[in-house]
Amino acid sequence: SPPMVDTAAALDVELRDVIKAFGEDIAVQGLNLKIRQGEFFSILGPSGCGKTTTLRMIAGFETLTSGELTIQGKSMNGIPAHRRSVNTVFQSYALFNHMSVWDNVAFGLKIRKIPKSDLRQRVGEALTLVQMESFAKRYPNQLSGGQRQRVALARALVNRPAVMLLDEPLGALDLKLRKQMQVELSNLHQRLGITFIMVTHDQEEALSLSDRIAVMKDGRIEQVGSPNEIYEHPATAFVADFIGDTNLLSGQFLAAETCPLLATESGLQVSLPPTDHNDITDIDVSIRPEKIHLSTQTDAKKPANHNNCYPGEVKHILYTGPHIHCIIELATGEQLRVLQPNHMRYQPGESVYVSWAAVDCQVLVAHNPPS
Ligand code: ATP
Repeated sequence: SPPMVDTAAALDVELRDVIKAFGEDIAVQGLNLKIRQGEFFSILGPSGCGKTTTLRMIAGFETLTSGELTIQGKSMNGIPAHRRSVNTVFQSYALFNHMSVWDNVAFGLKIRKIPKSDLRQRVGEALTLVQMESFAKRYPNQLSGGQRQRVALARALVNRPAVMLLDEPLGALDLKLRKQMQVELSNLHQRLGITFIMVTHDQEEALSLSDRIAVMKDGRIEQVGSPNEIYEHPATAFVADFIGDTNLLSGQFLAAETCPLLATESGLQVSLPPTDHNDITDIDVSIRPEKIHLSTQTDAKKPANHNNCYPGEVKHILYTGPHIHCIIELATGEQLRVLQPNHMRYQPGESVYVSWAAVDCQVLVAHNPPS
């Protein structure tokens, strides 16, 4: 059975108030992260948010401008990359084309003058882990993209690192192969039980593989949490919008006796779940497309707890295979995206009702939470 991630497990990697500046440009602005032993941890964010820079500092390819980095409790200040118990796998594989698969995997051990019998055993083991034993004599240009990526993984694993750093490891693969390699990566992580830290801009990949995710924006962390926490309870409008599809409504928070309300400028009033934050005024509210119920004006059936219910009109239908996305325009002018099973037969121009429960409104404060 797969090793469990123990929430009380020792920390493998810790960043405290880490800043990285390139001249005037600040790539990472005061990062705090605690990554536990055995975790599959992803760093997710748009291009240029500082993900790769963060990973490169952990690897030892970049120095910190300020702050502290520890790996397994030891400060990495002044410790070069090759003396850290981490290994990196890059998107570009970085294989040597003039060397066989075997020699590519053995290269690092040869440099470190590991005894021959040991070397044979470890290279064999690493190739077996990624199911590439039978390809040992081939050269990289005789391999598919997925096979090259497996060799790159073997080359990192042969060093028996405590932490595997993965920089967009599946970025060069087409969608189908990428999905297949995601399963292999997940299996590999479960079998090895070591810490994986992966950088990706693919939110679906991060959600499906990770124990926890840090969402970054502009060199800062917006939120750290399990895939479920990040998706169901986004802390900021940025996270809600970046992870999956969502509907964002902005307006004023009104504390009312029975339940608090969002009042938009257009005149829409939306019931919100109970909250302690009675002092907030400007808020954003996120409602996921799959939480919104659609009914025709004649049947007008809706679940009992859907206290938000508004008339609207179907503007667009987007067919995506298993689902359709309906874009509904409310009488007050807002457009909402609603997810429906693909057998629903709504037509553009049709009058409908949209409804959803107050509990499915995620109230987002406009500013970043302290990270
Ligand atoms: P991507 O997904 O596009 O790789 P990223 O989130 O990994 O983006 P980084 O590569 O960490 O982002 O870059 C963060 C910021 O730091 C960017 O503004 C980038 O231009 C800058 N930067 C990164 N490396 C250097 C460097 N060696 N010199 C100067 N600026 C750099």
